[in-house]
Amino acid sequence: MENRPTIKTTGRYGLQYRGVKCLNCGHPLDLSDKYCPNCSQANSIKKLTIRDFFEEFFSNVFSYDSKLFQTLAALLLKPGKITKAYISGKRLSYTNPFRFLLSLAIIYFLMMEYNSEFDTWNKFGSENQATAFNIKNELNKIEFENESERKEALAALDSIKFNEFIGNRLSERDSSILSNPKKYFQKIKGNGFFERYGSKLEFFKTVIKKDTAYNFETSVAKYGIPQISENKITYRLAHSLVEIEKRPGTFISTILAKLPFATFFFLPFFSMFIWLVYIRKKYTYTDHLIFSFHNQSLLFILLIVSYLVNAIFNIETDGLFLLIFAFYLYKAMRNFYQQGRVKTIIKYVFLNTIFFILGCIGIIIVIAASVFTY
Ligand SMILES: [Zn+2]
Repeated sequence: MENRPTIKTTGRYGLQYRGVKCLNCGHPLDLSDKYCPNCSQANSIKKLTIRDFFEEFFSNVFSYDSKLFQTLAALLLKPGKITKAYISGKRLSYTNPFRFLLSLAIIYFLMMEYNSEFDTWNKFGSENQATAFNIKNELNKIEFENESERKEALAALDSIKFNEFIGNRLSERDSSILSNPKKYFQKIKGNGFFERYGSKLEFFKTVIKKDTAYNFETSVAKYGIPQISENKITYRLAHSLVEIEKRPGTFISTILAKLPFATFFFLPFFSMFIWLVYIRKKYTYTDHLIFSFHNQSLLFILLIVSYLVNAIFNIETDGLFLLIFAFYLYKAMRNFYQQGRVKTIIKYVFLNTIFFILGCIGIIIVIAASVFTY
């Protein structure tokens, strides 16, 4: 019974509502057919009531023998076994691994979108930097209780002086750009590609910050800048960098929200390494890919649960859930590939190292792409 969809034989599925022709595909049916053998729609000619409609929806999604429930249970309780069952042909009982992972990535993405954790980082942004210069004035008004406190304050003052120095030097350059932008830009010829690019970047950042260039076309008209792609790309980059400097926290949130979807490019690539490590096993590349989809799905589930637990109980459980995942992954590899402990541990360490390296490269690519499209 558990291997095929079960259906009630009462209500709209009762014998009195069975037809002799499938309402979905027109295939001739027998009254004893619970389903159409051609398209597998339930054999019922009863008109749907609102109750039937919702009953069908909820029984499909939440009932004990629903695909979702079975997939979740198998994934959580039997590491690696769900992949084994799925690739050996037991498919109807479980949700498609790709669709399952995609749904979890969307849930995780939505959570990250509403996560304002990194918004506090915006206080490091350029919008709030000006306040640092005002502290010096405040410091003069304070009476100190003892010597060490005074020293501490003086040390802090030094760093403010340093900031002030840097600030002055920056504003010197800014004013040389702003006093005659047209001339300044024409002078940028530079020796090498990078020097020229860097000077142009500084130029655009300055004019964007001072609100004199709302978009590339404005600066073309205003400063007589040649409309070549090098200038356009530099303008785009400068615009993004100004925005990131203003609100770095918001930028970090944007990147984190992109990561769940980056896994879809990442896993097919990573699976090639799993395939290489287990090349003597009879599994195909697709089998390894499904294995990595299942494990990634479990990671998303743990991250989502951890996020909820953190939010509800106001504690940090990320480390604990990652530890659970580390152990789960080992069990999954043991069960799916069925090799000894030593072999599994060696491959486990190797694959995790590869995963970490590829992950870092992937994150750098995501950040670079985000900077240009921000
Ligand atoms: Zn049919």
